[in-house]
Amino acid sequence: MHLARHTLSLFGSKTSGDSRALVDAQVSQVLTFVGDLPVSGDRQGFCDLTFGYRAGPSVTTGSLLHEMAHCAQLREKDLSRVSLQGYGFSVKHVEVMGQHYPQPETTQALEREAEVFAMEILLAKRVFPDFDVEHYLEDFCLPLIRYFSDYYNIPLSPHCETLAAKEQARKDWMRNQVHTHLSKYTADIVKARLLSNYQKISERLTSVANA
Ligand SMILES: [Zn+2]
Repeated sequence: MHLARHTLSLFGSKTSGDSRALVDAQVSQVLTFVGDLPVSGDRQGFCDLTFGYRAGPSVTTGSLLHEMAHCAQLREKDLSRVSLQGYGFSVKHVEVMGQHYPQPETTQALEREAEVFAMEILLAKRVFPDFDVEHYLEDFCLPLIRYFSDYYNIPLSPHCETLAAKEQARKDWMRNQVHTHLSKYTADIVKARLLSNYQKISERLTSVANA
């Protein structure tokens, strides 16, 4: 998922001069913490071993942290799926609004995304001391979950009758998932996983390219 929307000045910019400069400065701060990984404000997503931080017409620091968190979240078994085109998720990452296709009844993609949100939050907290976790989660992460195909598989209590109550219950479910992961990891663990996974991915893809 690419974080196209932004509500925090810390995390967003239009492509105008000053705010682009602000985002680039924030990106430098991120790299000071995680190390010198290839990044690009002209790219979207993770492609050609480069972390993009463009999201449509904007560049955002949140997009960069999100792509890095996806890399950190990968398990050993997931690494072979990663290609020069991206992370290679088998479940379509984001469904087009209004288009619902038959999907297995799991919440697997959202569970993974909750772990990714937690990891980007831990990185953001470490790099930007003023970072507001709850605000970011509420305004930036939770509104995105409805675009996932397994949104409707989130278990609800039978007492949830109105649409508004169901939407709230699904957000609460996701918030709990994120908080569980927040207490499981630290920024240093996320950084170590990011660097280790990136190293393995780049070694494999470089040797494939040279074969
Ligand atoms: Zn995502």
